[in-house]
Amino acid sequence: MSIICVIGTGYVGLVTGTCFADMGNSVTCVDIVPEKIESLKQGILPIYEPGLEELVERNVSAGRLHFTTSYSEGLGNCDFIFIAVNTPTGTSQGGADMRYVESAARGIAKELDHSVIIINKSTVPVGSGDVVTRIIRKSLERPDVPFAVVSNPEFLREGSAVQDFLNPDRVVLGSADRDAASKVATLYLPLRAPIMITDLYTAEMIKYASNAFLATKISFINEIAQICERLGADVKEVAAGMGYDKRIGRAFLDAGLGYGGSCFPKDVRALSHMADESGLHPQLLRAVMEINHDQRRLVVTKLTSILGTLRGCTIGILGLAFKENTDDMREAPSVDIIRWVISQGAEVRVYDPVARKAAQETFEREHIHMDAITFCENAYEVAEGADALVVVTPWNEFKSLNMFQIRSVMHRPVLIDGRNIYEVAEMNRLGFIYRAMGRGTGPAPSILSPGDSTSALQQGYLQEGAIQEGNEK
Ligand code: NAD
Repeated sequence: MSIICVIGTGYVGLVTGTCFADMGNSVTCVDIVPEKIESLKQGILPIYEPGLEELVERNVSAGRLHFTTSYSEGLGNCDFIFIAVNTPTGTSQGGADMRYVESAARGIAKELDHSVIIINKSTVPVGSGDVVTRIIRKSLERPDVPFAVVSNPEFLREGSAVQDFLNPDRVVLGSADRDAASKVATLYLPLRAPIMITDLYTAEMIKYASNAFLATKISFINEIAQICERLGADVKEVAAGMGYDKRIGRAFLDAGLGYGGSCFPKDVRALSHMADESGLHPQLLRAVMEINHDQRRLVVTKLTSILGTLRGCTIGILGLAFKENTDDMREAPSVDIIRWVISQGAEVRVYDPVARKAAQETFEREHIHMDAITFCENAYEVAEGADALVVVTPWNEFKSLNMFQIRSVMHRPVLIDGRNIYEVAEMNRLGFIYRAMGRGTGPAPSILSPGDSTSALQQGYLQEGAIQEGNEK
């Protein structure tokens, strides 16, 4: 059994601390936000993550998991300190904001009175391990206390964070001190995962390169989706056909509204920034970001193609969180889509199974016009009187809706499936004007002349009845 302190009790810190406690270690989680710690002490989790609440409860009851705002209490006589604080985008050029990591390092230095291994789990720019070492060395109250710094990037996904932590594809450890890295490796031995020990810079880079590669896969399939849509192919089938190839794999080939959340957007930006700063020209990363941004805009393009104008329309939004099974609203496509739709004069009715509170806070912070938003209790309420429905988050409950009922309560049966969760033929059969992402809707553009007013009609974007109805409103 080891004694562990985890600094930062967000998605990564809380999951890390709880899982290590469940593996028999004694863990204290430290956070600077007193309300978070207070609610955790009362068994109320500040985040939604499947399976986590039960795990926290079990380990708190067993006396293995503790919460505090005090670094001195957290550090106690611990063997390992994990830093798991946020590293959002900090500069207009996309660089990571290291304030929280630096402040955690200073907090550790102030209280450290015994030998420890400090492990950085936050995603940080290459070279940050050295920065943490320098800060701690400079700020140590007792300069003779020995410590080592190890990088241990985290690869869990929100929505399946506990499962991912307990069943990692690999554990990456990087340090100039191989002995310290090997000691950290012992913590992970019960997980029976491949453990890779490398140098500090390489470990930090593995995290960015992994996220950038996955984001690239998403932008790649989204670009293919646009081509499919134009040429009459079905990107879902294309992805399935590609995915059988072991060299390619099926994961992260779902065309849709692009990536969001607290990791991919900021990590691709930060990697691109690192390359820029080093005098390189990261053209692929830039294209990945550009495609991702444009993908969200397609929703508005599809809506206006069908409805004509959005002024006076009611648009239903199914799902707000950046992906299913989480309440995380950071860089969620819903925020941009709702902002754009409202700016064109529409009102929105929205529903998300768990992200309502986080969404309200986000909309207020982002200065989105709250009067134009109605929060609903379920998808059927969202559909009530709507001129169009947009699927933004692919929650499972949206896949099993009674779509006949949904259609019957809508004002106009326009359905934009931003996540390709429904079948084209079935939605057409139910009478929806259905548009998905990258699923063929018409003939190749070679038969259309650019700027031809009938182009959109020929491509199947428009249905005459819908245009007339749209213009009347
Ligand atoms: P988060 O925002 O959910 O949590 C960070 C926590 O750290 C917050 O509770 C905050 O109050 C606390 N904090 C900030 N400064 C502190 C300090 N000085 N002392 C103590 N607590 C402090 O962030 P997250 O999503 O858990 O991400 C943490 C890191 O892990 C980031 O670098 C992120 O890129 C990386 N990461 C995240 C995920 C993910 O899916 N969320 C996955 C892999 C890696």
